[in-house]
Amino acid sequence: MCDAYIEPEGCEFFCEDCAPEGAEGYPDGGGEADTPQHCSGCHCPLDNPLTEEGIAYVVEAVEESLAAGNYTMMCGTPYKGTWFEDSRHCEIVRGWAEQVQNYNLSDADADTVEKFLEVSEK
Ligand SMILES: [Zn+2]
Repeated sequence: MCDAYIEPEGCEFFCEDCAPEGAEGYPDGGGEADTPQHCSGCHCPLDNPLTEEGIAYVVEAVEESLAAGNYTMMCGTPYKGTWFEDSRHCEIVRGWAEQVQNYNLSDADADTVEKFLEVSEK
């Protein structure tokens, strides 16, 4: 788990490498949140702890990716014009899926996540 950095007047999170000068560090990827946080510079996941809502959000994204068949590393639409720009959908969801494996998931959710990680393997 890495530290997140926030500019004194800003609300964007950055990783250590992208942190602007004067940015303050926050432990645990900026802290527990309802969604996975990403660096606004390089888009790397900050591995913040997830609330129950955050876990549900990730499981839903995994289910949607599975349903859409959107799980190979070459697939996916880059998120143009958003902070995910130049990331691929399945890489993002795969990162999240790996993270939620560390939480107490229901058997059904754990199966879904495991299946996704299996089929999305490089
Ligand atoms: Zn970064």
